[in-house]
Amino acid sequence: MTSPVWHPFTQHGLGAPIPKVVRTEGAALHTADGRRVVDAISSWWVTTHGHSHPRIMAAIAEQAATMDQIIFAGWTHEPAEQLARDLVAIMPPELAHVFYSDSGSTAVEVALKMALGYWANIGAPRHRILMLEHSYHGDTIGTMSVGARGVFNRPYAPLLFDVGTVPFPEPGHEQATLDALDTLCGGADPAAAFIVEPLVLGAGGMKMYPPALLAEMRSICARHGTLFIADEIMTGWGRTGTLLACEQAGIVPDILCLSKGLTGGAVPLAVTMATREIFDAHLSDDRARMFFHSSSYTANPIACAAAVANLAIWRDEPVRARIADLGTRQQAQLDRIAAHPLVRTPRRLGTIAAFEIAPARDTIGYLSAIGPALMAHAGTRDVLLRPLGDTVYVMPPYCIDDADLDAVYGAVASFLERDLS
Ligand SMILES: *Cc1c(COP(=O)(O)O)cnc(C)c1O
Repeated sequence: MTSPVWHPFTQHGLGAPIPKVVRTEGAALHTADGRRVVDAISSWWVTTHGHSHPRIMAAIAEQAATMDQIIFAGWTHEPAEQLARDLVAIMPPELAHVFYSDSGSTAVEVALKMALGYWANIGAPRHRILMLEHSYHGDTIGTMSVGARGVFNRPYAPLLFDVGTVPFPEPGHEQATLDALDTLCGGADPAAAFIVEPLVLGAGGMKMYPPALLAEMRSICARHGTLFIADEIMTGWGRTGTLLACEQAGIVPDILCLSKGLTGGAVPLAVTMATREIFDAHLSDDRARMFFHSSSYTANPIACAAAVANLAIWRDEPVRARIADLGTRQQAQLDRIAAHPLVRTPRRLGTIAAFEIAPARDTIGYLSAIGPALMAHAGTRDVLLRPLGDTVYVMPPYCIDDADLDAVYGAVASFLERDLS
């Protein structure tokens, strides 16, 4: 019997088996056929502390006992109020307002609409959005428009809106990035907003750039009045070593998008945080100036309760020490694997380690055979890895122990030896 389920980013025609997970715990997925699989990619970057964290799961159960979804336009509830207070307390004080939605893509759509709404409402309309080359901000039409174009979105390309693209700051070419941003921000038709993944471009291939550049990009935007949108959907919640990647550059965006680790990765929820200025531009006695956006499940109480529990964990547990420790252990593993002749550009930021497996000659890209081959090989060793083309990355839950991390890098090492040498 074939399943009626149509999976995301899955070519069903290749017939690869689709394992069924029956239980999650810590850094592991337990399958229906009795395997314990190490989740080396935090289930696509959502799981922070570990799967099924007892405090988060308890908060979900407790909240589910008293309230399901309620309309959030003109109504409120304590989990959303509590979470907004907690977020404002832990995030930079300039980000005084919290808008709820239910996925990363939606948080980005909200950010773009807030930026355009700001310019419309202050009576100085700006429409142009700028992005950084190789960026990823989601899979909806709007977020694909502000992301890298490629095989992922070719069929939809005619519908994607035009944006200004700033070249990625490759080492040695940083000034070109800053000059392009400066030019694209200004001129007769100044840019409304620049959206950026701070310090690490995730889906674009775990491409990293230094904090000083992020700080310079931020100040160029400020000079032109171009709103600065930080998409910390992947980089937030400790991934890069600090709560936010922006922290390392000492900057505060005008608009901040958070999702993935917001609930510790347990249930879907997203927020778009904005400055008072952006909120105030929508504040009026005129209904036509309100912020026209809602999802049915905006601020779902059960999801908000999970996020409140996540923030309590950040307050009560040594999360930052765990992240620092994982960073050190990742670096030691990376240093060992970097000695292999096929490993190129090993790099790490916080808990994210990445490198390319390169047969030197050609650029292979996302659909190259190396990614799927490594994924299949790791699977036979009960390790979940999902390379981005020829880019291998390890981004485990913060609770991963040495034995499991050894298993992850052991899977990569044996792939390099057996399948490529
Ligand atoms: C995952 C991701 C998104 C999209 O989030 P979804 O919840 O999958 O819609 C947006 N931006 C970045 C940087 C991401 O990593």
